[in-house]
Amino acid sequence: MVLIMLGAQGTGKGTVAGILNKKTGWPQISTGDIFRKHIAEKTELGVEANKYIASGNLVPDEITIPMVKARLEEEDAKEGAILDGFPRTLAQAQKLDEILAEQNRKVELVINLTTPSEEIITRILNRRVCSNQACKATYNLTMHPSKVEGICDKCGSKLVQREDDSNAESIQRRLDIYEEKTKPLVDFYNNKGVITTQEVSEKINRLGQDVAEEIYEKYIKK
Ligand code: AMP
Repeated sequence: MVLIMLGAQGTGKGTVAGILNKKTGWPQISTGDIFRKHIAEKTELGVEANKYIASGNLVPDEITIPMVKARLEEEDAKEGAILDGFPRTLAQAQKLDEILAEQNRKVELVINLTTPSEEIITRILNRRVCSNQACKATYNLTMHPSKVEGICDKCGSKLVQREDDSNAESIQRRLDIYEEKTKPLVDFYNNKGVITTQEVSEKINRLGQDVAEEIYEKYIKK
């Protein structure tokens, strides 16, 4: 099954995708993570992508789309894939349909996460990620802190703040781009009848873990 995680930054897409990855074995394909790995390794793609990422802008499709296509063609993505952070525009969604059609498959489920905007900003500012690219565990200083401050529970590496999370301008830019370019995808997938919208919010005591369990039971488990 090809599944898409949709929702603004900080709604918990990565958390839900990570849990579903463990339950299904399908790879979590996070375009943001792939870019960050390239940036850390200082590859040509990483240097180019970072010009856009650091300021909160979208990386151009000429770079992003071939990268996703190649990843979807890898052996471990044949049975299923959990796309996290792609598509982010209508053009990317249309391109994804073409790529999947060539592989005789299609998007079967879109999980759209929503969170009240005041909670989103706090979550992004409190987000910490493992600096070890092979681990990539995510924490939150208040909601889900690591056991030892600044150290990853899973692998012992240092926890860091993403460069684009430490800067209020970049956070706002990403949220604006989400509203303008990514939100129209809700209608796009609604028309295809494949979307489920799920609220993730501390106010209603419903976090990514709860959503992932429910989605798995309802839509994925055979
Ligand atoms: P994320 O980890 O999903 O928040 O992505 C971090 C950054 O990577 C975004 O703010 C964009 O600059 C870039 N990025 C990730 N996915 C895409 C995409 N599908 N299209 C263009 N840029 C992307």
